[in-house]
Amino acid sequence: MPHRLQSVPPFPPVPFPAAGSHLPPTAPEEPGARALRRRGERMRMLRMSVASYAIDALLLFLLHAAGAVGLLPPVVYLLGGALAGGAFFLMLNRGWSERFADPYLTGPQMLTASGLQLAMVVLAPAVGVLSISIVFIVFAFSALRLTPRQVVPLWAVISLGLALAIGLAEQAPALPVATRWQAALSAVWLSMAIGRCAVVGLYGASVRQLLGTRNRELAQAQNQLHTLATRDELTGALNRRAILGALDDALQAGARPSVALMDLDHFKLVNDNHGHLVGDTALRRFVLGAVRSLRADDRIGRYGGEEFLLLLATSEPATALAIAERVRRAVSGEAWSDVAAGLHITVSIGLATLREGETAEQLLQRADEALYRAKAEGRDRVVAG
Ligand code: GH3
Ligand code: MG
Ligand code: MG
Repeated sequence: MPHRLQSVPPFPPVPFPAAGSHLPPTAPEEPGARALRRRGERMRMLRMSVASYAIDALLLFLLHAAGAVGLLPPVVYLLGGALAGGAFFLMLNRGWSERFADPYLTGPQMLTASGLQLAMVVLAPAVGVLSISIVFIVFAFSALRLTPRQVVPLWAVISLGLALAIGLAEQAPALPVATRWQAALSAVWLSMAIGRCAVVGLYGASVRQLLGTRNRELAQAQNQLHTLATRDELTGALNRRAILGALDDALQAGARPSVALMDLDHFKLVNDNHGHLVGDTALRRFVLGAVRSLRADDRIGRYGGEEFLLLLATSEPATALAIAERVRRAVSGEAWSDVAAGLHITVSIGLATLREGETAEQLLQRADEALYRAKAEGRDRVVAG
């Protein structure tokens, strides 16, 4: 009965297509380059919040022009926003913020922005609903960079602040709709707020996309590493460590595999007569031909020089013999003259099927002895040990 051999795939898995070249590199970055890139990210975040302040300030001035609020609220808002933007600009741009646990200063930025909105609820309750709508955006945007542990206390603080602001305001927070202009400006404000919600959502989506890309790149890198660590560079067969590892795995899984030790005949003469490059090509061709004679669960590895080890997923000596004989015939029947005029290559094979209580070393020893006999009996043959 054939059984499955584990751990090493017969061929390198197909790597994922390269993607996300526009994203930050996955390769380790220079600390300096990383710091610069992250500062750029922080400044981008700050630019977004300053743009947000600017939009609100402009709309507040227009609401003032439309008679919804006095001049004080937009002026206070503009000054507050400019002060906060300037202070955070200095801290982020000069690198002062890098001393903090969160160099993005997400929490402080969020509290400042929300605080300013809540101050507006007290100062200009006639447009209070609009100010409150911005608190939602600020919180959602900040939460993208925060952990649940950080979000909960900030949530509590903002909720308290909101309750306080509503309590302190002279009238209930309202939506200015007394005139057509006010109604239109309210609609524009809310529309801009919804747009900013979309930006927050899209930012989250881009992070998710980045994660997906990174996962694929990681899988690809792992595949490449696995290939480098397990393959013989010249022939593409498993390397010695990998084929012996596969044998150990099979034994540990309780399988009773067969092994075939294969040694190319008079290979020194191939090199001497045709050159080392032809020898190398012959080794590659030999592996390709042998692989075609194997079944999906069989493995081939380069044991050393011009010696290869077949790990056959069968505990039936007759099946193992049939496969080894198939390989031998395929090698002998290969059109070697395509590689070099007058070239002909044969292989001698020593075969052994695991016996009860036998170790990997003992099994390989028997295969080696069988190979020795195959050589002694005239080469180009399979001998079972
Ligand atoms: P036998 O039939 O007894 O096995 O004779 P042989 O000539 O094959 O045995 P020997 O061990 O004397 O020589 C093995 C040769 O295989 C010598 C070595 O140069 C060649 N060889 C080993 N690895 C490579 C390789 O990677 N490329 C090439 N071109 N030749 C190799
Ligand atoms: Mg040899
Ligand atoms: Mg040889």
